[in-house]
Amino acid sequence: MNPADRLTLVITAFNEQDALPLLHPRLCAQLDAMADVDGRILYVDDGSSDATWAVIEQLAQDDRRVAALRLSRNFGKEIALTAGLDAVEEGAAIMLDADGQDPPELIPEFVALWRQGYDDVHGTRWARDGDGWMKRATAAVFYRLIGRLSKTPIPADTGDFRLLSPRALAGLRQLRERQRFMKGLFGWVGYRRIALPYRRGERIAGRSKFGFWKLWNFALEGITSFSTAPLRAATYLGLFTAASAFVFGTWVVGKAALYGDRVAGWPTMMAVILFLGGVQLIALGLIGEYLGRLYMEAKQRPLYLVDTWRPANVAVSAAPISAGERHADRSTVAGEQVP
Ligand code: UDP
Ligand code: MG
Repeated sequence: MNPADRLTLVITAFNEQDALPLLHPRLCAQLDAMADVDGRILYVDDGSSDATWAVIEQLAQDDRRVAALRLSRNFGKEIALTAGLDAVEEGAAIMLDADGQDPPELIPEFVALWRQGYDDVHGTRWARDGDGWMKRATAAVFYRLIGRLSKTPIPADTGDFRLLSPRALAGLRQLRERQRFMKGLFGWVGYRRIALPYRRGERIAGRSKFGFWKLWNFALEGITSFSTAPLRAATYLGLFTAASAFVFGTWVVGKAALYGDRVAGWPTMMAVILFLGGVQLIALGLIGEYLGRLYMEAKQRPLYLVDTWRPANVAVSAAPISAGERHADRSTVAGEQVP
């Protein structure tokens, strides 16, 4: 078998005990159908509090192609994905949600594009059946905004459903920042990219883990990780208000000099003070956002810790430590993570 044709499906799961047993047979059906691909499945349990890990272990026991990775706690989807991709030893990887919203039936199309030489095949949703109008509308605004603000190409309506070629994977592994906005990181890697339109269906079981507040913070994360435009905007806003204040000040002083100063104008004064105070607070908050990120990076913590790693049992297969050692800069981190 040509090692270039190894393909690992990486599925992150957080409290997906009901969805995984429904998803697994669909994944297997696709892998079985592709005779010329050495397919594996890697489940990442992102610190679930329900029976997800037991379900994954059962699947791994019944199917030698299944590898299982359990993180030490819930780290969030972006980190769980990173952990999963780190553990892919060779070949390409496809990331899917555990809830069936990314239809496994499309896997052969991803593989076909990979074989045509594409490095990053990303699923783009032309329909989102599973999401309400509110989520669709806010998502649309978000993609427009980040598309404008960021210099890194971040295609609209594109989630984490994608295939990465071995070299794109290797590229991504070198990005070890802690505040991980994966959509942006994929874009940063570059290489040959192509969109694959698909219809995003409904969840097969369980509930969405991303409420409004989480999505809002996710959007902030994305914008501040991939753009410094808000900082620039704060500068311009500051310049603009300073200039207006100067003009207004000149006018006030001039008026007082010409006509004398009767005590009046308390409302204007209050308005100006409040306005300036507000602008300053916004600008400070913005700086704080970036400073906070610097602080998180400065701590140099590992991205995640592994609780249990159970490699696929197909042939003699190495632990992801070897994958880590391929990239000297993170070998120490990987060494700590993998028991
Ligand atoms: N997920 C995860 N860690 C988390 C939250 C979610 O690994 O902290 C996984 C989840 O199990 C699912 C995927 O990320 O496989 C997408 O989550 P979800 O379906 O809740 O998001 P939505 O599709 O509603 O945006
Ligand atoms: Mg979902």
